[in-house]
Amino acid sequence: MKKIQLVIDDKTIIVPEGTNIFQAALDNDISIPGLCYHPKLSQFGGCRLCMVEVTEKRTRHRFACAHPVSEGMTVKVNTPEVTRYRKAVMEYLLAQHPLDCPTCDKSGECGLQNITHDLSLSESRFKTVRMNAPMIRDNPLLELNRNRCILCSRCVSTCKEIAGDGSIDFQNRGIKTVVGTAFDRPLNCSFCGGCVAVCPTGAWQNRTLGFHGRSWEFEKISTICTYCAVGCTLVLNTKRGSVRRITSDDRLGINEGNLCVKGRFGHEFIHSTERIKTPFMRRDNKLHPATWDEAIDYIAKNFRNIIQNHGDMSIGGIGSEKCTNEANYLFQKFCRSVLKTNHIDNLANMRSPFLNGLIYESVMNGTTTTSLKDLQNANLFFFFGADISEAHPVIGGMVRKAIRMNNANLIIANARNIIFHNTAKNDLRLRYTLGSQTVLINALLKVIKDKILVNVKRAERNTNNLKELYASLDTVNINEAVKVTNIPEETITNVALSLVKSKNCRIICGKDITDDPNGEKTIQALINLCTLINAPHDTDKNPPHISIVFSRSHNNSQGVNDMGVTPEFFPGYLDIQNASNREKVEKLWNVELHNALFTKDHKNIIDSALQNKLKALYIMGENLMVNYPRGKEVQKALGNIDFLVVQDTFLTETAQMANVVLPMATYAENEGTFTNMGMTVQRINKAIQPIGEAKCDWEIICDLAKKMGYPYSYASPKEIVSEIESLSPMYSGINFDRLKRKEFHWASSAFAKNKPSNYTFRVIQSDALDTNAMKNSDFPFILLTGANLNHLGTYSRYSKALTSVVSECFVEINRKDADKMQLQDGDTVIVESLQGKLPLPVKVTIRPPEGCIYVSEDFEKTPLNSIRYQTYTPVKIYKETD
Ligand code: SF4
Repeated sequence: MKKIQLVIDDKTIIVPEGTNIFQAALDNDISIPGLCYHPKLSQFGGCRLCMVEVTEKRTRHRFACAHPVSEGMTVKVNTPEVTRYRKAVMEYLLAQHPLDCPTCDKSGECGLQNITHDLSLSESRFKTVRMNAPMIRDNPLLELNRNRCILCSRCVSTCKEIAGDGSIDFQNRGIKTVVGTAFDRPLNCSFCGGCVAVCPTGAWQNRTLGFHGRSWEFEKISTICTYCAVGCTLVLNTKRGSVRRITSDDRLGINEGNLCVKGRFGHEFIHSTERIKTPFMRRDNKLHPATWDEAIDYIAKNFRNIIQNHGDMSIGGIGSEKCTNEANYLFQKFCRSVLKTNHIDNLANMRSPFLNGLIYESVMNGTTTTSLKDLQNANLFFFFGADISEAHPVIGGMVRKAIRMNNANLIIANARNIIFHNTAKNDLRLRYTLGSQTVLINALLKVIKDKILVNVKRAERNTNNLKELYASLDTVNINEAVKVTNIPEETITNVALSLVKSKNCRIICGKDITDDPNGEKTIQALINLCTLINAPHDTDKNPPHISIVFSRSHNNSQGVNDMGVTPEFFPGYLDIQNASNREKVEKLWNVELHNALFTKDHKNIIDSALQNKLKALYIMGENLMVNYPRGKEVQKALGNIDFLVVQDTFLTETAQMANVVLPMATYAENEGTFTNMGMTVQRINKAIQPIGEAKCDWEIICDLAKKMGYPYSYASPKEIVSEIESLSPMYSGINFDRLKRKEFHWASSAFAKNKPSNYTFRVIQSDALDTNAMKNSDFPFILLTGANLNHLGTYSRYSKALTSVVSECFVEINRKDADKMQLQDGDTVIVESLQGKLPLPVKVTIRPPEGCIYVSEDFEKTPLNSIRYQTYTPVKIYKETD
């Protein structure tokens, strides 16, 4: 892009062509007063404060936010004339604005207050005409004080452009203009709190703060969100050792200050009275408080006895998608070297055991190399089985930005009619038949082949078996695919053309694909598709045209797998069967690993426990009883375990079954790293001391290892990161101190070091899963499960703000099915499967297809797994009185 040189207040700066003066100044630490301009929003030009003196051919006054830079331009920000004008504008604003700073939460960080102070304004020449509008408190999280609103449009633009909600807008005309909702109905949005974050005055406020501190009293520590796998950076505001609110900083992290409702408001669990503050030990079939010494002694003694009496591999370990990389690394090291077991796993891997291998393969093959930050550069998005609005809301904001800035197009393929508000000119929706995902991808491949949409010779040169792939596609019948997927041929062709033509496409492969019984085949077909489109291009010179981002659920679902908490891999996806990997690990850990660890037969831990092969189980930060998809089995399996140790923050359903419970610190009390679903490693920072006697996840493992005679003498997570770096090639180059300033993207670094060899396509049969055959007259519906915007895991259920927005789980029923059954919103129905029943309130929507119902699995209080026994469980629904 062409660069422009200009001078602002005697400082020579160079900025890209097209930049406005305000942004050019901002990027070069020059302050221009302004209240409506915001770098992440479209320009509005409403506050009139950013007037500057501009000399191009002539000297004139211009609004900095609305005037682009030009070569040789000179800008003066504070001439006497400009200042006089600015003061007059401020006087008008202050004539209307209430001077209620002593009771306003924004005081101390208010743009209007700051500019008033900078301009040394005191008395206004104008008659005061103040509104006396009542405070609008129609929801539990946000309040609107229209008296303080200066109509800058920032909240309106944020709601529309970033959150995609468009729930607020200007009402009325002229001096009667106010911000509000349509027909003054109660605010009905995603409650991301973006309006509070961008409001330059105290018009929008975070109700949950409730006089718990003034802005200047807070200590602010930036860290990473503990909920979903996007890994947004947020700022914990603490006062006297407690977290009082969460704010964001547009300059930090991958999220440009955007957060979702969980990130911004879901922090109350940190100081919940229900947190466990001491260890607990079971005596007389009850859990009693104990000291750390007692608990650690008891666990060490029992683990030792079990290994002595039952041999290696008699203990299992389940790591955590929520704990840090460092804790997970130590966890698998402890299990393998101290507990002498390879029965280790994590819930993400237990749900989709094929995913790690395929993600790693696609990183090395160059089809998964871009970070989430890079989404903003894309010009085409393909959401494949991904419900972005519910599962990863901040990614939604990134996509909307790309749509706004790059005119990006959108393709959404899902069996459900998912909602994603956006302004893309081309927004193509493919509602495929449930179970037909692989058929759809193979049909796209077939179109690319038949219409010769890629350069065959070059694709052949850069891959190993294009002919074999093409021969297999001969068997794909497009008419048949149209019938099976229920997607018209023209649409399939359009999608194939768009994918091939796009210069920068991002596919977001969601949980509807990875959790599907055919998920492995579908993802293999998807990698074939991306490789075929990328193959004719030289990846040495250009980044891949098309890249996949795999959806993960929790803040560290990626990291727990990277750290080798799986039976197949050591940290860094080092194959456990490989002798040289084994040698490397033994040398670094200074142990001899038992041969039993290296069996090829990696049994699911729950299955092993069901077969009475496990005597003890150590679970770190995971509520298996509720979150393992097959609930009845896990209950039975845990019942078979003689000695259960659970390390967690709350007395979860799983902890209640334990022999010993160890209190674990939350992310606010901990240091370390999380890895997001874009393979970016980010550092979390300690903001407060652990609550009660809770300890950090990694410290607990060190205490246990030491008690069992192993020298785990790590002083801090930094030392653990160094050890991870020395073992895992993909983390080579990571530096804990540097992470404070800059995140580490392991996928691009691993790909850069690895010259990919030519890819060998897998031949994938176009088989569809017949979900209709799973139903019968007794159980005529299929239960679909997935994410919920407001809840995730244990923490959200202990966050009052989140439960106040959505307090209970509900079942979504297609409108046509609801009509047939005469069901309405709010009715309670029993959802019953072969395994159990669950009463749930009804929400009638158009989202699930007819014959399917949808229940989110993110409400931990609702044990959905008590009725679910497979991905698509057949169920019936009926009213309680029926
Ligand atoms: Fe970001 Fe996910 Fe946290 Fe929301 S829950 S703020 S999207 S990391």
